[in-house]
Amino acid sequence: VRFEEMGLSEEIQKAVRYMGFEEASPIQAKAIPAMISGIDLIGQAQTGTGKTAAFGIPILEKVDPKLKKLQAIVLCPTRELAIQVADEIRNLSRYMHGIKVLPIYGGQDIVKQIRSLKSGTQIVIGTPGRVMDHMRRKTMKLDFVHTVVLDEADEMLNMGFREDIEFVLSGVPEERQTVLFSATMPKPIMEITKKFQNNAKVIKV
Ligand code: AMP
Repeated sequence: VRFEEMGLSEEIQKAVRYMGFEEASPIQAKAIPAMISGIDLIGQAQTGTGKTAAFGIPILEKVDPKLKKLQAIVLCPTRELAIQVADEIRNLSRYMHGIKVLPIYGGQDIVKQIRSLKSGTQIVIGTPGRVMDHMRRKTMKLDFVHTVVLDEADEMLNMGFREDIEFVLSGVPEERQTVLFSATMPKPIMEITKKFQNNAKVIKV
């Protein structure tokens, strides 16, 4: 599928062209329309399949740039991945105005993070522990969050983030969209799905 045929905003089509993408990858062709429609999703996909843009593009289509509140959270297992995902979403948003994307992870100066969070960040890409920390400190308000993505969910569980993930998901308004990407689907993933997603559609590539 060509990106021009996907009904995306002009700004995103331009960014995708700038990044040299022509055709949507298989996970993108399936996940982008499904996610834009608002349903919960389970995407079984490895790194390198284009999964970042598969959830990054719908997040950008759904975020209101005029609303200077946190609207979408992506949880990632590592700081490296958080930075990489934030960079890709920033690239995809390069022709949009008023979008702020912030990677958040442990070891970073928390005062600086709090300042950035307060300055109108709409999209946070974070590791579960640090996001939970901000929720506890009430330095991250979730009232306007409509989309949560768990990226590399199996890795996050392997690293012992299960309780943190559950804490974060429990603090997000219930009328949200919950999307989970994972290379493998072990039992604990299915348990998270059952507990925190509604009729999730499975997409495999
Ligand atoms: P990911 O699986 O999200 O880590 O993406 C792997 C690499 O593929 C990244 O460098 C992306 O920028 C690139 N990429 C993602 N989608 C496409 C696409 N539709 N066409 C060409 N490259 C892409």
